[in-house]
Amino acid sequence: MIQQNLKTILEEIGETQLVAVSKYRSNEELMELYNAGQRVFAENRVQELLRKEVELPQDIEWHLIGHLQTNKVKQIIGKAALIHSGDRTKLLKEIQKEAAKAGLTVNVLLQVHVADEESKYGFQPDNLKTEISNELLTRYSNIRFIGIMSMATFTDDQEQVRSEFRKTKQLFDYIKENHPNPSEFTAISMGMSGDYQIAIEEGATMVRIGSKLFE
Ligand SMILES: *Cc1c(COP(=O)(O)O)cnc(C)c1O
Repeated sequence: MIQQNLKTILEEIGETQLVAVSKYRSNEELMELYNAGQRVFAENRVQELLRKEVELPQDIEWHLIGHLQTNKVKQIIGKAALIHSGDRTKLLKEIQKEAAKAGLTVNVLLQVHVADEESKYGFQPDNLKTEISNELLTRYSNIRFIGIMSMATFTDDQEQVRSEFRKTKQLFDYIKENHPNPSEFTAISMGMSGDYQIAIEEGATMVRIGSKLFE
């Protein structure tokens, strides 16, 4: 079933990269996807990512999604190929500090808050623009900002979801124009099981899909 779900989704999303969200799923379930060719997986908890990273094949590319506490940053450096949730300067500062100590450069997406919900994390668009004019993109020598990430409001109103993804794409364009190295700023991570078709129509280059793969 899982392998059929994967096939269906891959056909549907075309060139868009599939990030398989494997949080709470067993190693056996992940291996079904792995054996069907999937190599990019995402977790939202540091502890679970680290455990699976040890237990599962070494050629898996692990992404971290979801709010990251600063006291967990040290453990994730060098383990996650991409952190989707670069959602505040305090966190970026900590990533910079630990990446420099480890002598590594870390790939990070800037998470923006475009949803009409209090609970979603991320930079407010106006604050992000201010930070960018204050050199956010060059401030952290051990961070490579390669794109943007957002989550839409959890609602049946498709037009609202669409307008939030559109806002994300506009912010992406704005940041790219102001990026010191625009050719490395390429990723738009938006869209989950319930809204990835709309996200792709609005320019997503990566979709983060969990439940629809494992149902
Ligand atoms: C869980 C999660 C997803 C995947 O959600 P599904 O609805 O299961 O596809 C995507 N992004 C983030 C940040 C998540 O926490």
